[in-house]
Amino acid sequence: MIIAVDGPAGAGKSTIAKIIADKLNINYIDTGAMYRAITYKCLINDIDITNEEAVSNLAKETDIDFKDNNIYLDGKILTDEIRTLEVSNNVSNIAKIKEVRYLMVDIQREIGTRSSVILDGRDIGSYVFPNADYKFYLVATPEERGQRRYKELTEKGYDVNLDEIIKEIIKRDEMDSNREFAPLKKTDDVILIDTTSKTIDEVVDDFLAIIK
Ligand code: C5P
Repeated sequence: MIIAVDGPAGAGKSTIAKIIADKLNINYIDTGAMYRAITYKCLINDIDITNEEAVSNLAKETDIDFKDNNIYLDGKILTDEIRTLEVSNNVSNIAKIKEVRYLMVDIQREIGTRSSVILDGRDIGSYVFPNADYKFYLVATPEERGQRRYKELTEKGYDVNLDEIIKEIIKRDEMDSNREFAPLKKTDDVILIDTTSKTIDEVVDDFLAIIK
């Protein structure tokens, strides 16, 4: 079984996907974490992220894997280091590179062929698994999405600014929606859920009612 969960930044995709994976006892793949991992590796190695060839070469030499729903970059587990504003501000530039996407999508499809999985991202239902069993598309207002990200980051002790986060989210959505290859888009066959005024439990219930 393949469940695709797409939508703009901060709409609640990963929170919901994790819970659903747990409840259905299937794997969870955070595909955004893969693009973040490549971005992080570029940043710590001082690679010019506008140099598509250099970024693609780095991605080719990178090992990305998931174990127990955690992402590993060249064998090392990644957690908060890929959630910084610096990574968020640069990730869409990396994610628009076709060669990088081919590499990430190959990994996603390989995982999908060997196990039941729920994946969250931007192009899962539209490009990676167009024949997914279920295609969800989550949305919420930019203010609500910004508030959620702000809460998440401040709870982890980061000193962040709400307006900056909202701006970053809007800019990232714009870049992700307007890139040439496999952009963020809502296809006609998705199950659309607006999470703005819903609790996590309510969204989980919506998912389970449809999947069952
Ligand atoms: O989901 P998250 O916000 O962590 O994703 C980070 C970025 O990774 C997105 O803004 C987008 O540029 C990229 N991404 C993508 N395709 C996916 C998942 C994420 O282009 N399937």
